[in-house]
Amino acid sequence: MRSETTYKGIPASPGISIGKAYLYTRSRFEVDTEYLQISEIQKESEEFKRALELSVKELKKIRSLSYEKIGEKNSLIFDAQLEILNDKFFINSVISRIQKEKRTASFIFDEEMSKIGHALLSSNDEYLKERVTDINDVRNRVLRNMKKEKLVSKVEEYSIIIGHEITPADTILFSKRKVQGYATDRGGTTSHAAIVSRALRVPAVVGMKDISKNVTSGEMIIIDGFNGIIIKDPTEKTLKAYKRKLDELKEYDEKLNKVIDLPSETSDFKTVELSANIEFDEEIGFIVNTGHCGIGLYRTEHLFLEAGDFPSEERQIEEYTHIANVTYPNTVTIRTYDIGGDKLLPRSEKEDNPFLGWRGIRICLDRIDIFKEQLSALLISSLKKNVKIMFPMISSMSEVMRAKEILNEVKKDLDKKEIRYDKNIEVGIMIEVPSAYFLADDLAKEVDFFSIGTNDLIQYILAVDRGNEYISGLYQEFHPAVLRAIKSITDAAHKNKIRISVCGEMASDPLATAVLVGLGIDELSVVPSIFPEIKQIIRKLVYSEAKDFCDEILTYPDEEKIRTLVYKFYQEKIVSR
Ligand code: PEP
Ligand code: MG
Repeated sequence: MRSETTYKGIPASPGISIGKAYLYTRSRFEVDTEYLQISEIQKESEEFKRALELSVKELKKIRSLSYEKIGEKNSLIFDAQLEILNDKFFINSVISRIQKEKRTASFIFDEEMSKIGHALLSSNDEYLKERVTDINDVRNRVLRNMKKEKLVSKVEEYSIIIGHEITPADTILFSKRKVQGYATDRGGTTSHAAIVSRALRVPAVVGMKDISKNVTSGEMIIIDGFNGIIIKDPTEKTLKAYKRKLDELKEYDEKLNKVIDLPSETSDFKTVELSANIEFDEEIGFIVNTGHCGIGLYRTEHLFLEAGDFPSEERQIEEYTHIANVTYPNTVTIRTYDIGGDKLLPRSEKEDNPFLGWRGIRICLDRIDIFKEQLSALLISSLKKNVKIMFPMISSMSEVMRAKEILNEVKKDLDKKEIRYDKNIEVGIMIEVPSAYFLADDLAKEVDFFSIGTNDLIQYILAVDRGNEYISGLYQEFHPAVLRAIKSITDAAHKNKIRISVCGEMASDPLATAVLVGLGIDELSVVPSIFPEIKQIIRKLVYSEAKDFCDEILTYPDEEKIRTLVYKFYQEKIVSR
């Protein structure tokens, strides 16, 4: 009897596929270590340049295929690889070493690439560490072309690729063969192969250690990208279970996809705008390919993470303009840095209470130079008139006034330089600190919109650390104090004729949709993966029922009772409709 084996790794791209494995072994091209005769030096340098030219040509082809498949932004890795090959300083130093040391081009080039690789590996940053695969890819490409060997990318159609390591270029080339999944020994969730798999929407499991030694071509496997597993030789029972899961997924996707472009309104025609939260660049594909919606919260902290410091104004302009372009004609609400708390801090000292510490707008108002650069980049990127600016962690009126004053100074500077921007750019604040809730009526007079950050608002109202698993049971979104706060913030916004959204995780909880809509929230900004489901719930809701329901639960002081009622409402008014 066959026995199945399960291998575990890191889930890198969701989805399930059942199919035949294709073991992809890429040869590591060896270097020639011998010394050159003086008469051979000239030829060696020319061969090297020829190999570089060929590699550039190959990479450009892959880049244009990649643009087509997953868009320009996700294809930046190939620009980075091309940059190395076009770096005159780097190339000249290789050639001059060939001439001086009389060693082969492959030997010198390999050494130089290894130096870059080692520098990346010694970094503390996981993202930079994973860039070593990209460096190895460039190395192998050039060495292969020096040996005049052909690029092999012929894999069986519809197979699941297993490999020690798969480069982004491989992933793109294989996608032409309708590959059904990727599993690799190496790599983490930020490896480009993982990022590309997510963009291509095929399941991927990485960091499997030795899957390439345990699976051979032609074997029947299941890849489960949700749980990060590969099942080899599945039994009939497992196969049946996975086929059922696949059918369910397909049915679910079909159902949800039907809803995705329908209006986001309740069945009694109250519009509730649905937008997406974007935290990392890879999620932008959702806006372009699927959601066709606005962005209710664009977190800018990843720029800080990527640069290891505050990014330059140019880098920011590039990023924000790109976001504004892909979202157009919908709007994108870009939040200024919310560094600190559980996120990174631009200084090394540890704070005893980081969530009550130097965080968000507090850092920006202390580091006006940095803040002005970000505001300037945001204004310069606002020409399409679809960018809104949002300040996080506001806890007092003076912070709002000071932030607006600084924004006006930046506007004046741009006017002086005759740089154009959206003069009517909307400015809003996050309501996520209890003092802002108490001041909501006053704050609403000073800004164009509110967005409730329930992640923080709940932790600060209930005094429950949002990341502490010991007290996670106390972190309750349906706590009467939280619901009453949301209600009064919403009323304050509407009384002052400004719009209000919720962008915390509560907006992405299907159980909470009826409550937030019933409390009068105008917009929900949700994580992309839940977007279709929340849209469907909104469309099933009857606003007047949700409102009456909220009027009722707001009278109860007991969180358990409220939770039970919310669950009942969800079952009766959503699930069974
Ligand atoms: C929030 O606090 O709800 C929020 C959206 O911001 P963050 O999770 O980034 O603190
Ligand atoms: Mg927050």
